[in-house]
Amino acid sequence: MKRRNVDLVCDITELISQSETEGNRKELLQSVVVSVAKHMHADVCSIYIYDEENEELTLRATQGLSAEAIGAVKLKLGEGITGQAMQELRAISAGQASQSTSYKYFPGINEEQYNAFLAVPILRGLRRIGALVVQAREENCFSSNDTKALRAIAAQLATTIENVQLLSNALGESGASIEKDAIAQKVAQQRILRGRSASVGTARGQALTLGSNQNESCALPDPDTEPHTIEEFETAIKNTARQINQLQRQTSEELADVAVLIFSAHLLILEDEQFTGRISGLIRTGTPVLKAISTVVSEYVEIFSNSKMPLIREKVLDVKDLGNRLTRNLLSKETDSCDYRGQIIIAHELLPSDILKLSAENVEGFIVSSGVTSHNAIICRSLGIPMVAISRELADCIADGEEMLMDAEQGIVYLRPSEEVYAKYRDLDKAWKALHNASNVKSKTKTKCGERIYIHANINLLSDLKPAHQFKAEGVGLYRSEFPFIVRNDFPTEEEQYAIYQKLVDQMKGKSVTFRTLDIGGDKMLSYYSNVHEANPFLGMRAIRFSLQNKDIFCQQLRAFLRAGAAGNTRIMFPLVASVDDFIEARAIAHECMDELEAAGQPFSRDTQLGVMMELPSAVEVAVELAEEADFLSIGSNDLIQYMLAVDRTNEQVSNLYLAHHPAVLRSINRIVAAARTHGKDVSICGDLSTDPRMLPFLMGIGLRKFSIDIINAPAVQRLIQTYSLDEAEEIAGAMLELGRISEMEAFLDSRKLGTK
Ligand code: PEP
Ligand code: MG
Repeated sequence: MKRRNVDLVCDITELISQSETEGNRKELLQSVVVSVAKHMHADVCSIYIYDEENEELTLRATQGLSAEAIGAVKLKLGEGITGQAMQELRAISAGQASQSTSYKYFPGINEEQYNAFLAVPILRGLRRIGALVVQAREENCFSSNDTKALRAIAAQLATTIENVQLLSNALGESGASIEKDAIAQKVAQQRILRGRSASVGTARGQALTLGSNQNESCALPDPDTEPHTIEEFETAIKNTARQINQLQRQTSEELADVAVLIFSAHLLILEDEQFTGRISGLIRTGTPVLKAISTVVSEYVEIFSNSKMPLIREKVLDVKDLGNRLTRNLLSKETDSCDYRGQIIIAHELLPSDILKLSAENVEGFIVSSGVTSHNAIICRSLGIPMVAISRELADCIADGEEMLMDAEQGIVYLRPSEEVYAKYRDLDKAWKALHNASNVKSKTKTKCGERIYIHANINLLSDLKPAHQFKAEGVGLYRSEFPFIVRNDFPTEEEQYAIYQKLVDQMKGKSVTFRTLDIGGDKMLSYYSNVHEANPFLGMRAIRFSLQNKDIFCQQLRAFLRAGAAGNTRIMFPLVASVDDFIEARAIAHECMDELEAAGQPFSRDTQLGVMMELPSAVEVAVELAEEADFLSIGSNDLIQYMLAVDRTNEQVSNLYLAHHPAVLRSINRIVAAARTHGKDVSICGDLSTDPRMLPFLMGIGLRKFSIDIINAPAVQRLIQTYSLDEAEEIAGAMLELGRISEMEAFLDSRKLGTK
């Protein structure tokens, strides 16, 4: 059957925009199903809404099925064809639905007469919102074009559904609001919110929700009583442009590796005639200046957030920030106060580039409610900005302008803290500073018996080099090379990369530097690389797998590393190696790159060592063979624990299962170290395990002598190393390797009071 899908998509667009302007959003879903069924000549069209908490779809609108089914038909994730489409994040079409193994029969809704079935998930990014389903009596009647059209509609619906929070949950709508009130009440009474630490430190400031439509950080006066002229608006534009250029210059100096043109979108929008011209136009036709700014900013926010292109959607925060700046410049005579000093940002989601921008604008801390990706946590740690993850319900209860104190070490947020709380934290801050005082660190670390141990720094941003020197790092044991890739709009060129890597090598002044090749995938996504949706990204196209599949990008990076290491003392390691074969393939490519550089007459060092990051159980099993082949091994304990124990390192709900002291983890690390030592190869550890005071004696006891750490922990790590002799450490490690149960391990650690010396 021939269908005019273009008409359908246009009609739906119109329905959505009507519902937004007329506020009749509740009827929207029903209007959509009627329209889709009509255009597609389908006998049935239904919309299901997904409840994340219960992992359940509920029928919310239907044309063709019995009306009683609305709210009553529920499908678990994976259940029925619709549940399967939702689970696998893909469209599923069945010519004869009842023959499909996934088909689920619901008595009484008159579904059995329909043969053709097409279910399309409604998604926002990777987030499940719901499903759109069409059914018809005629077998095999939906084509691939119909799937495309339905997908386009689902994409448009996603934002609207999410925005108006039609997401039903198990409590139903009134239940949900009752629960919300209860949470709000609890928050008001307790004044303490508990979450999870993502980047330590304390911060004080006023709450500011990003993403709220208010013009953040300043109370807007009534536009009618605050008349401004077009000339004042033009001056505000000039001041805003000056400030942004200044910010760009400053961040390019301080964060050269990641902050190239980070404010370019701000400037582009500001210079765009359609943006400023439209505001001026509104002002000329009588709209008060502040109102004109907020109207045009809201229009841009709407357009950007609905864009299909992730890169455009990412600009929402930029345009809001611009609106704020223009407003504040208009209202304030102090034109340099347009930053986030004294403010703690509350956001559902943040991009690494947002963090960089807000950091340049002096934000005090972050509270996020969508969970914390590892790169956001790492970037905040590098920038020294505290970050806490809390639930969305709690985040929603924080009012803008509320005074807060964040203890990101404990993952606690105090609302309207009392003077006693402030006083307690002033004391704690002093104690923390004394504990992390770089001047207490000696340039060489030795055990109680005089054995040398080497403390190296993990570097994420070039700005980490400063603390690396202050804390007397003896080298860089892990350079996480992904950040320049994550914050750009495209892959950095070989030359751009070379400039960054060379700076790193230069500034380490001959000390050893270990580069890690790109580790993206998992929860570190590149918005400009259109990867297929992965149901399980941590088990998907990550790290060395990505590099081996994208050889050009891999080679550019390897050549840049090799050139930067021309003067020697640099090494290259590959993340997430799963087999000896992975390593051999990566090494062969590195050798090809060396040949290319040689042919081109570019200086590099043929002796650059090539190593393996030991992060997977499969690599542990072949540790002996890897140690034979590779020049060195480096233990990535963060991932090793995650994959060994099958516990997502970013998932708060299973964080109690993420156990560094699990016997399987400790025995694996011992096997890696033993394999390396047998083959006389260098071995080190660069995961967070080595800063766990309870684990340090074990690590020394099994023979590790090189620790690459977040260098701020150097004073504590060095102090602890000095309190153990190797004999003591070996005895402790031997005893721990004997234990097979977690409970026994915990009892042992407690009884020996490890880490408390
Ligand atoms: C690790 O997995 O231990 C590691 C150091 O790498 P990352 O934390 O960057 O995954
Ligand atoms: Mg890792």
